[in-house]
Parts: sequence; C-alpha cells; structure tokens
Amino acid sequence: MNKQSAENFAISRAALRASRFGGMLSRYPRALGWVRRLMLPLAIQDENSFNKHFRFFILLAGCAMSDPKDLRALGILSRDLNAYMENVMDEASDKPMVWSEWNLSNEILRAFDVRQYVPETFAIVSQMAGSDAAVEMIERAEDEGMAPEHCSAAKTAVGALLSNEAPMPDVIISSSHPCDSVASSYQTLQYMTKAPMFVLDTPYWDDEKSFKHYENNLWDLITFLEKHLEQKLDWDKLREICENVNQTNHYLQELSEMSRAVPSPTSVEPLLLSWLGRMAAFGSPNGMEFAELVHANARERLRKKRSFINNEKIRMIWYDVPLVFAPLFPWLEKKFGAVVVSDFMGRIQTVPIDTSSPETMVRDLAKTHLYCTMVRHTRGPAEFYLEEFKKIIDEYSGDCFIFMGHQGCKGGWALRKMFRDVCREAGLPSLFVSSDIFDKRHVTEEEVKRQFEDFFRSNGLA
Ligand code: SF4
Repeated sequence: MNKQSAENFAISRAALRASRFGGMLSRYPRALGWVRRLMLPLAIQDENSFNKHFRFFILLAGCAMSDPKDLRALGILSRDLNAYMENVMDEASDKPMVWSEWNLSNEILRAFDVRQYVPETFAIVSQMAGSDAAVEMIERAEDEGMAPEHCSAAKTAVGALLSNEAPMPDVIISSSHPCDSVASSYQTLQYMTKAPMFVLDTPYWDDEKSFKHYENNLWDLITFLEKHLEQKLDWDKLREICENVNQTNHYLQELSEMSRAVPSPTSVEPLLLSWLGRMAAFGSPNGMEFAELVHANARERLRKKRSFINNEKIRMIWYDVPLVFAPLFPWLEKKFGAVVVSDFMGRIQTVPIDTSSPETMVRDLAKTHLYCTMVRHTRGPAEFYLEEFKKIIDEYSGDCFIFMGHQGCKGGWALRKMFRDVCREAGLPSLFVSSDIFDKRHVTEEEVKRQFEDFFRSNGLA
C-alpha cells in the first residue's frame, strides 16, 4: 500500500502533542479545572503571541465543559482523537488507507481492517496546532488554484495534501451531499491522488423510495470496498459498532432535549465535541462513554434545576456553524450569560439501527446517515431546514437567533430571507454574521464580537 517520505505531518505531530498533553491533564480533572480557571483570563479576549498555542484548548474546555466531571469526559473523547491521529501518521502500517468525506458516517468503513483519514478534519487538527497553521493550509490550496469561494475545510484538505500532512489514499469514499464544495473538492482530491473513488448518491426527498435508493448505494459501497481492499466486511464488528451508535445517539438525543429546560443544564458544546469525535471513530466505546458521562452530568444539573453557568441570561438558537478558529462560547457565557440552547450542527435527531441482520443494519444505516447534521437539512428543499428550525423556536425558549454564516455554505446563505421571516413572525431578534469557520482572514474575531455586543445591546438583551 502507499507509503510517503520522511518530514511528513509536522503540523499533525504538533497537534497530537498538544492533544496528548490535554488528555493527560484530563486524568486529573480537578487540577485541569484549576489550570483552565487560571488560564482562561489569558485566553478569552484575543489571540496573541503568548497564548496562540494553548488558546484553542483552553477555550474548548471553556465554560460548558468546565465542570471537573465534564473535563474527565473531554479526556475520554481525546483518546479517540489521539488514536485517529496516530493511525493517520502510522507510515509503517500495511493496512490500506481510506479517505472518507466528513459528512459520511463511517460505521461501515470501521468494520474493515483499514486506516481512515477524514480530509476535512485537518482543518481542526491544524487549528489545534495554532490558527496560523490552518490559514497556511488554506493559502497553500488557493495558491495552487482552489477557488477562494470553496469551503475552507475543503481548501485545508487540499492544502494538507500539498504540504505532506495527509497520508496517500488507497481508496476514497465521498458523497453528493451536503454541498457543491464537497462534491467538487473530492473530484479535485481524486484528480490529485488518482485513487479509486466511490461517490454515494444522496437522495433529495425524505420518503421510502429515497431511503431505498441510498440503501442500495450502501450495498454498492460495500461491494466497492470489498473489491478494492481485498477484504470482506466483518458483520459482527459492524453489529457491535451499530449497537454503540444506538446507545451514543440515545444519550446525545436526550442531551439535545434537556436544553429545553430553563435554565439549561448544558450548552451544545458537548454535542459539537461529540460530532468531532464521531468523525474520528463512529460507534467507538470511548464515544459512547463520553456521551453517557456528559448526559449523566447534565441530568444531575437538570434534577437540581441548575444551569452549567452561574447566571443564564440570554438563550441563543444558533445556526449555521460554530466559529472554530476562535471558539466564542466561553466569551459569550462569561460576558453576557449567553448560552446556546440549540444549534444546527450539534443537535441529534435520528433513528435506531436494527442490528438483527446485515439487511436491517444496512437499511437503517441508510436512514441514520440521511438524518445526520448537514445531511438531513441540506440535501432537499428549504423546508428541511425550516421545519426543524420552527420546532426549535417553539420548544427551546430562545431569546434570539444567531446565524453564524460560513462563506462556503451557500445553501445556508440562500435561506437568509426565509430564516429572517420566520424569526420576525416569532418575534425573535436575529443576527446574521458573515464569517468563515476556519479562516480568520475572512472576518476577524474582534469584528464578530463587536457585532454580538451591538446586537445584544440594541435588542435590550444586555
Ligand atoms: S461547512 Fe458548509 S460549505 Fe463546508 S462542507 Fe459543510 S455544508 Fe459544505
């Protein structure tokens, strides 16, 4: 199988060192809680030459995850992330390397004996090494001809390949969802690597015919993988993975619902972190343990009618994506008592997988894949976005709506008027921010924060 030369993965190695350090500290959650408390004032306002290498981690362990019990959960999740990065960089391995697009649920892939790389995750890995590293990757891709209009995650994936930060693939799997950026960038990645590629054809509608179409696609994917990997899918392993997925989704779905309480016992941050962990290892025991723990901690606060912060004042409903280059939640929570009670990416809404036979597993995997974030909303008509949005407005007692628009997500931006009209009808103040999830050059953190301050003040929320 493909091998690379020395001097690879410089950024990934830096990110892994930082992640291992965080994971090691999380074994002592009380001590980590103190480190976070001492460091947060140094990290919360802006990035500078002193804090640029640790800021991302301190902000991730910001407020929603700052209870020592939740910090322990963070450490559990970091095991999967560390193992994922180690696997990606394991150049001595003879296992085939499969690239899998970040919106694909990878249960089926994990039932093969392979190494896996999710190209878009490099946008987050490079962030862990400092936000300049992410910009470096994006610029590298743009210099080589990627359009600035592409999703920055897609550009980072190409930048990583050009910079010897990505392992060479033996096989690539992708899909026609959730957007043109993904569909076109995978053609570029395939063109650059020449690896055989399978593209899942995502249906537009939400009916039995569409589910059946996608299910047939999954069977074709299995045939493709068995042929190119020269292996048979391990159905017992897939059953185990699906059972973990069911359990994990059960906890996370309940966690999503708990935020309807006032005050909210959790923010969406654990859900977003779980989204990241699932890319590294869908249906892993660690992911399940993380979900169980954050669920139990939130349920305990719910029972005591306690918020996860001292003083909840503003309840935000948040679409489209979080700002990864500068995680804002700690700043919003500390400065305004503003918490995100429901969001587009973290919210789990799915169906259980019947694990009684290969046929039932593949049938239900098709449904769970189509119910994933960025898949269930973006592949069909505007109603797929808006109906869920209206339900959230009805159920979560939000004080305002934040649309953190990512420049790549043209589908989300296309619905701006409809989002605004739904908010007007519901009497919900709305803020639309033009940003880029990973690229700090698009709009600065300072400017985004200024927009929040103006918005809260002008609507009497702060
Ligand atoms: S973040 Fe937006 S632009 Fe990027 S892949 Fe997801 S849907 Fe596409």
